[in-house]
Amino acid sequence: MLNLILCSKNRSFAPENKTIQMSLVVVGSMAFDAIETPFGKSDKIIGGAATYIAWCASNFTPVKQISVVGGDFPQSELDALTARGVDLEGVQIKKDEKTFFWSGKYHMDMNTRDTVDTQLNVLENFTPVVPDSYQDCEILMLGNLVPSVQSSVIKQMKNRPKLIVMDTMNLWMDIMLDDLKHTISLVDILSVNDSEARQLTGEYSLVKAAKKILAMGPKYVIIKKGEHGALLFHENEVFFAPALPLEEVFDPTGAGDTFVGGFVAHLAKTKDYSFENMKSAVIVGSALASFCVEKFGTQRLTEISTADIKERIQSFVQLVNFDIELV
Ligand code: AMP
Repeated sequence: MLNLILCSKNRSFAPENKTIQMSLVVVGSMAFDAIETPFGKSDKIIGGAATYIAWCASNFTPVKQISVVGGDFPQSELDALTARGVDLEGVQIKKDEKTFFWSGKYHMDMNTRDTVDTQLNVLENFTPVVPDSYQDCEILMLGNLVPSVQSSVIKQMKNRPKLIVMDTMNLWMDIMLDDLKHTISLVDILSVNDSEARQLTGEYSLVKAAKKILAMGPKYVIIKKGEHGALLFHENEVFFAPALPLEEVFDPTGAGDTFVGGFVAHLAKTKDYSFENMKSAVIVGSALASFCVEKFGTQRLTEISTADIKERIQSFVQLVNFDIELV
């Protein structure tokens, strides 16, 4: 039975709920993105792995964010996150520097893309500092960043969080494989897409790839397959969730981050880290990702309500629910 708990739309966790134990810390990029798909092109819009995760996860649980932006990052965007219950004490603002910029172009299938430009800017010398008020976190979500920066956050935690989840990308496999493998060895769950899993392990079979990743340290591995759903592996078990077939996919950017944001937020909210509950978390992540792709950037995530999310999750239940009698 899918056990889902949502928080009402626009609920602010921040000022009045300071005493609530905060359970989810998110680390990752906050960015300007420029995106081109076969169906349209965006100007410079707000993006970044941690931005998507925060917008998504704040539907379920308070979030404590660790990131860095330049003086050019709009204050209104930071205020909007604060209003959602995202604590920004761990977000450094480098007034005289520029925010990280990424630009990508999607192929016709919308499942694959090329990075057109990456300007590290403030990310180049980013040294995250974990505020004292973040030390009580139960789940640490390491969104896509330089692997050594991700591991420096783990090192700063005085007590190891109950669950450390990590997302990454092919770039670090190309240029920092040893650092990446070291960080992977420190986490409980690795989230990658299918081509990244293949690149990391040299295995075409995703089952073999998952086994090799599990041998690197994590107890669980999530392999995202874009419009073809996601797989969750643990020991000899595997769970599959489809992606919702959508009539229109406008912009897949951030869908992977949104997926993992929904996944960790469900676990943070329910505080149940069993494999059974992780299956529900995969469905929550898939449901949230299906919203993300409906508009450019974070736009759609800023609009959805609790009712929208519940309805979407019901669509997932319908999608895979069938009775079968073997004769
Ligand atoms: P996704 O589509 O889920 O893989 O994530 C897209 C987001 O990742 C974009 O909003 C980018 O700003 C961000 N991103 C792209 N490259 C990097 C990088 N090298 N480091 C950190 N974040 C990145």
